[in-house]
Amino acid sequence: MMLRKLLTQSSSRRLLSSGTPFFSKTSLSPFSSLSSSPEPPSSENSTVEHVEHPGTTISVDRSALYNPPDHSHESKPDSELVKHLKSIIKFRGGPISVAEYMEEVLTNPKAGFYMNRDVFGAQGDFITSPEVSQMFGEMIGVWTVCVWEQMGRPERVNLVELGPGRGTLMADLLRGTSKFKNFTESLHLHLVECSPALQKLQYQNLKCTDESDSEKKAISSLAGTPVHWHATLEEVPSGVPTLIIAHEFYDALPVHQFQKSSRGWCEKMVDVGEDSQFRFVLSPQPTPAALYLMKRCTWATPEEREKLEHVEISPKSMDLTKEIAKRIGSDGGGALIIDYGMDGIISDSLQAIRKHKFVNILDDPGSADLSAYVDFPSIKHTSEEASENVSVHGPMTQSQFLGSLGINFRVDALLQNCDDDQAESLRAGYWQLVGDGEAPFWEGPDEQTPIGMGTRYLAMAIVNKNQGVPAPFQ
Ligand code: SAH
Repeated sequence: MMLRKLLTQSSSRRLLSSGTPFFSKTSLSPFSSLSSSPEPPSSENSTVEHVEHPGTTISVDRSALYNPPDHSHESKPDSELVKHLKSIIKFRGGPISVAEYMEEVLTNPKAGFYMNRDVFGAQGDFITSPEVSQMFGEMIGVWTVCVWEQMGRPERVNLVELGPGRGTLMADLLRGTSKFKNFTESLHLHLVECSPALQKLQYQNLKCTDESDSEKKAISSLAGTPVHWHATLEEVPSGVPTLIIAHEFYDALPVHQFQKSSRGWCEKMVDVGEDSQFRFVLSPQPTPAALYLMKRCTWATPEEREKLEHVEISPKSMDLTKEIAKRIGSDGGGALIIDYGMDGIISDSLQAIRKHKFVNILDDPGSADLSAYVDFPSIKHTSEEASENVSVHGPMTQSQFLGSLGINFRVDALLQNCDDDQAESLRAGYWQLVGDGEAPFWEGPDEQTPIGMGTRYLAMAIVNKNQGVPAPFQ
């Protein structure tokens, strides 16, 4: 009953989506083209092994993609971030891991990619599902209300979003659920966001006003909800039932890359060559992160292990998952993780995107997004190890997830009450969210399907065991 009400109520805004033709992180990145690259030459005497051409060691097939210009002969002055990265490498007296490089490039407080500007949408670097259509945030709202019901409708809930970007998903969630006063009145929002620039945008888009007694607390006028900002999940108060949303957050967490060579498993590192340019090298012997590699391999099937030439591991993702599972296990609630990734071990997926095009990972760091496929089995096993009180469901495709929650009813309800432009935009947004997949629930007219996010993006839920199986994983 409640579900039908949520899906069929009219919308107060945003019937025009912000533009579907732009580049999502998977638009041009077929999983089917993952392949191993040839081993780099080994050099027994050097302390590190130089990977000859950085581009060629990345095994995602980018042959059909934009070819970045070769900057190696341009004498561009180094940016602040490039100087900083070079000084770390110099100070250490050796290369840094790909994970450390990624972390600096994305979240360095002064010059990290996310830190100082709005990177989303047509004018930015890539587009995400909440920016494609209001229906995405609304359907996540449906999911949260369903879990809240299964929790026994608690009077107080912490609703946490990890990496809220522009705050669009949360704004659509609050608008979509605003008629369900018992639900919205229970909420305290906790936004985990490292970027001061994006925190400001979230504040604006959630239509916040300040609470006089605290700098980091505000009230969102969309549903009268208190909003707090934090740098990490650990900072969010615990002891209260908690709902956690992580949409395109895990893919921004740093990954270590390993490559099988004649010396066994070596870690791929970032160094500065004699020409003063960044280059990839291989570690001469196992690095501390190899412990995580071993751990991950214990969860792989023998067939998976046999085929491995490259492996990506994200210890930061594992640590975050532990924290999520412990909270859900002790405080009750659930976490929803939606991201592009695989239901298997990841080989070599790190990619850089600038202005809706793939570029070289080492080119002008800080000016392009870096992201990697999410390893969903690793999230599942890490959660189950961290808490006996949680159950993990999925992954299922975004298409199945949104379809089973009833996005077709939502689109039909919105189409009843809009003009032609809005209808076109809604249909395009719908297909971008569920297309490229089975989209089994659509009963509308046949549409030209654009490249969609329906199968590339996967959804997984971690919930407290006492609550049963969450929608729509039953
Ligand atoms: N969820 C949003 C944005 C995804 S982009 C959407 O779907 O549109 C990743 C988001 O996570 C950005 O808001 C970025 O600033 C934030 N972020 C990335 N790494 C982070 C970290 N280590 N800690 C906190 N926030 C981070």
